[in-house]
Amino acid sequence: GTAPGGPSAAVDTHCPYCALQCGMGLRPVPASAGTGADPAPGLEVVERAAFDVNRGALCGKGRTAPALLSSRVRLTGPLVRRRRGGPLEPAGWEEALDRVAGELAGVRAAHGPDAVGVFGGGGLTNEKAYALGKFARLVLGTSQIDYNGRFCMASAAAAHLRAFGLDRGMPFPLADVARTGCLVLVGSNLAETMPPALRYITELRENGGRLIVVDPRRTRTAEQADLHLAPRPGTDLALALGMLHLVVAEGRVDAGFVAERTSGWPEARAAAMAHWPELVERITGVPVPHLREAVAMFCDAESSMVLTARGPEQHSKGTDTVGAWINLCLATGRAGRPLSGYGCLTGQGNGQGGREHGQKADQLPGYRRLDDPAAREHVARVWGVDPGMLPKPGRSAYELLDALGTDVRALLLTGSNPVVSAPRAAHVEERIASLDFLAVCDVVLSETAELADVVLPVAQWAEETGTMTNLEGRVLLRRRAADPPPGVRTDLEVLGALAARLGWEKGFPADPEEVFEELRRASAGGPADYSGITYRRIAEEDGVFWPCPQEPAQNGVAGPAGGPSPAPHPGTPRLFLDRFATDDGRARFVPVAHRPPAEEPDADYPVLLTTGRVLAHYQSGAQTRRVAELNGAAPGPFVQLHPRLAERVGVAEGEPVAVVSRRGRAVAPARITPDIRPDTVFMPFHWPGAGRANTLTNPALDPASRMPEFKVCAVRVEAAGDG
Ligand code: SF4
Repeated sequence: GTAPGGPSAAVDTHCPYCALQCGMGLRPVPASAGTGADPAPGLEVVERAAFDVNRGALCGKGRTAPALLSSRVRLTGPLVRRRRGGPLEPAGWEEALDRVAGELAGVRAAHGPDAVGVFGGGGLTNEKAYALGKFARLVLGTSQIDYNGRFCMASAAAAHLRAFGLDRGMPFPLADVARTGCLVLVGSNLAETMPPALRYITELRENGGRLIVVDPRRTRTAEQADLHLAPRPGTDLALALGMLHLVVAEGRVDAGFVAERTSGWPEARAAAMAHWPELVERITGVPVPHLREAVAMFCDAESSMVLTARGPEQHSKGTDTVGAWINLCLATGRAGRPLSGYGCLTGQGNGQGGREHGQKADQLPGYRRLDDPAAREHVARVWGVDPGMLPKPGRSAYELLDALGTDVRALLLTGSNPVVSAPRAAHVEERIASLDFLAVCDVVLSETAELADVVLPVAQWAEETGTMTNLEGRVLLRRRAADPPPGVRTDLEVLGALAARLGWEKGFPADPEEVFEELRRASAGGPADYSGITYRRIAEEDGVFWPCPQEPAQNGVAGPAGGPSPAPHPGTPRLFLDRFATDDGRARFVPVAHRPPAEEPDADYPVLLTTGRVLAHYQSGAQTRRVAELNGAAPGPFVQLHPRLAERVGVAEGEPVAVVSRRGRAVAPARITPDIRPDTVFMPFHWPGAGRANTLTNPALDPASRMPEFKVCAVRVEAAGDG
């Protein structure tokens, strides 16, 4: 790629949105090029074909990303609510920071450190996630920190740890997907969520590979499949068990692999045998012949993979569901071998790195456990404090939001918009509004920021440097390509200024590379070891896969016995080829059984609701809804339903339809299509207000991952007349 250089040279960087972290170049353009309502961005996107994940391809979200840099709706100065119930008013930074520090300290003094909470995001750079966790635990002394990644890939993470002893979403590079023999995509609509990734599917097909898509809807991704299985929402676990049952019944178990590289097979086998195909057909609605066809495709290929996304993961049994798909891979010897295995397509930009560096309630940097004495000792040493100062693990994201206004009285939130993205959102909105004090860092006045007492405007992706870890576990460098507008500060500057006001003059530098250097030391020896990764290496190598430990005599220092310095660790694109990361090196089968969703349809709520994303928008839409081109392409929510259901309800295409759950009501225009099961409706979740899908969703939590059940709940569907 190009390097930063002369006035018109492009700066190599990455997209601000999803976990594919597509490479792009940003080049300054003259201000006069502007047209339309907003001033032209000072930067334009140029192709960066050398970055191999996307080879220059971008979706509309990435292509239009600079628009928000110069948008009239971005925040360019702090806002403060000077009296309760009063308006948010422009303020200077000194007043805003003094107010935040004063209120947080006041609540802490009155109610104890755990009355102050911190809520982060899976889009924050590694440096920010690291600094936020350190700020919460040292400066505030609170255990109450978690982040919206809990709503993203937490179930896959928990299942990974349970089975493999290590959680890296994909244990192999995306390039391997194009060369596997059979790919099973479970609950991923990557054709809309990350379109440049479709090229791996195209290449897979060109190479003779087969594609199975599991999704209750015939999505743009499902249209590509050789076999599309459309189970009833909430039954992916049974589907995987049914396939495993057939694997056993048809003598397709890889006994050698099971004996040499796994433990726990007898129990997992017994659990699968209790799910015979006819039972699975009754539970899932997938006909037995389709199950058999899927098993044949999966097992007849020389190599095969399962990739899950939010579809099977966002359930009160998400961890077990992912576990069932992992069991299928293990029983057939399709893990820890070239071009085979299980992986998770993480959604948020830094969904992977965001969970490794300490903003998760139970974790310390390097993906260490907060309740592990050795981990506490190590990180406390790097931070220069006594390990006893580190709080214990806190609450998970939904539990934290649910405790606002009661146990947790003040909140500092950055990189998240839970008023739109949390389950049971009306309740969450109420809890947020009941706080004694809320401070929000954001680039625009999001629906959550509207409720804040202080809003701090922070820099956007192209205005600051930092590392992101993409869905492959590849650590990437986003580079600053322009200065933030006057009046805007970076999150790291904000944390440093707040820390200083709360008595921590040192330890919170504003320079991202300085933070990364400390992160390297804090992660050294941990599962997600970044100690051998430097900004320079990332730039030279276009990303480095963790774990990448620092070799003892790296950096030109003489090696052992005065010999030459050993080569730096190359990073680890492929995990588990020799051993899994468990104590005995064996992958663990976990026996799992089907159980129904927390809410089953009944006479009052006879239909199932599932939720997801559309091509033009990203997550809560806080950014993409404010980009004219994207908003024009997808201006509002809709309810997708089958013609038979539409007829029963009495709605025609485009007419308002109300979806009602035990938690509330949402109204949006009907979009009628046979591409969805007649017992299910779908709503995208990007919008606030009357059409907010998350008003309806169920916060029932997975016991292991604390993931809410976004992907299925029981609803009633009605014609809404005028709404
Ligand atoms: Fe950005 Fe994801 Fe689109 Fe790539 S696929 S351009 S990373 S939003």
